Amino acid sequence: MRGTVLYGPRDVRFEERPAPTIIKPTDAIIRMALTCVCGSDLWDYRGINPITQPKPMGHEYCGIVEEVGRAVTSIKPGQFVIGSFFASDNTCPNCKAGYPSGCQHREFIGDAQAPMLRVPLADGTLVATPDVPPDNMTASLLALSDVMGTAWFAANAANVKPGKTVVVVGDGAVGLLAVLAAKHRRANRIIAMSRHTSRQKLAREFGATDIVTERGDEGVARIKELTDGIGADSVLECVGTQESMMEAMRSARRGGYIGYVGVPHGVGLDGTELFYAHVHLHGGPAPVRRFLPELIDLVCSGKLDPGKVFDLTLPLDKAADGYRAMDERRAIKTLLRP
Ligand SMILES: [Zn+2]
Ligand SMILES: [Zn+2]
Repeated sequence: MRGTVLYGPRDVRFEERPAPTIIKPTDAIIRMALTCVCGSDLWDYRGINPITQPKPMGHEYCGIVEEVGRAVTSIKPGQFVIGSFFASDNTCPNCKAGYPSGCQHREFIGDAQAPMLRVPLADGTLVATPDVPPDNMTASLLALSDVMGTAWFAANAANVKPGKTVVVVGDGAVGLLAVLAAKHRRANRIIAMSRHTSRQKLAREFGATDIVTERGDEGVARIKELTDGIGADSVLECVGTQESMMEAMRSARRGGYIGYVGVPHGVGLDGTELFYAHVHLHGGPAPVRRFLPELIDLVCSGKLDPGKVFDLTLPLDKAADGYRAMDERRAIKTLLRP
């Protein structure tokens, strides 16, 4: 088969790779229905995470089960399944506590931009849809694999409740879906921080009530102005830079909650500032598997449509164009069709 491999900064190739096979009896092989490029893939693509050897890419996936190992009992060939970027057993203490992305046996799935994928710990990792979904639902189901699951966790970690005021830092795909998650949890006011007109439009469509275009101290000042000088009940941090983290901390009210899901790059927090901020901080790699049954249900019943976040669809062999479009911010998120 052929799949996506990153060779170095801005050097994405689509080339021959060995087709996956069952290695452990707990594995499953799935035939990809759709996959996509993640905002976090751009850290590698831009060379911010150094690439020392050719690296297969992709960690968001959904598709039809082709084959299962002999120890797999709940997942069957022919089912349409979705899983998280971390495979998990769903039985260890960390999984039971609701943190499958911190599973004692977790394995990162990093080669999903390909027509076939091996998924370890299939019983714990994969969740099947009730039926094979219609084509027009597949993109929304794919979004649950990471981007929507991550945004959902941001809202959960930031304790978004009905009637509350929420700030979303970041207008990438996760930030935009964090607006949707906050709306779904019936926040009263949702302030999206965004400087890009097309993204502001989608943020509004997803439920943003206010847009703040300023950044840094000016952005924080604007949030304070909009909240009678108090700050927001919940802040969803969806970027992972020093600036975005400080914006999040300084935009929350005393006793407020910050859900941070942007993968931190060079972020340091000052202990004294943190001490006097009186905020709850909760974040990390999203425990997507915890939310999958609920999210699949919402998508299949037509109550949630996160697939709208994909604004570019390409055949899988044109993955390099998809990376370029996202790098140049011409696309929010690229869908890849095998
Ligand atoms: Zn991702
Ligand atoms: Zn576990």
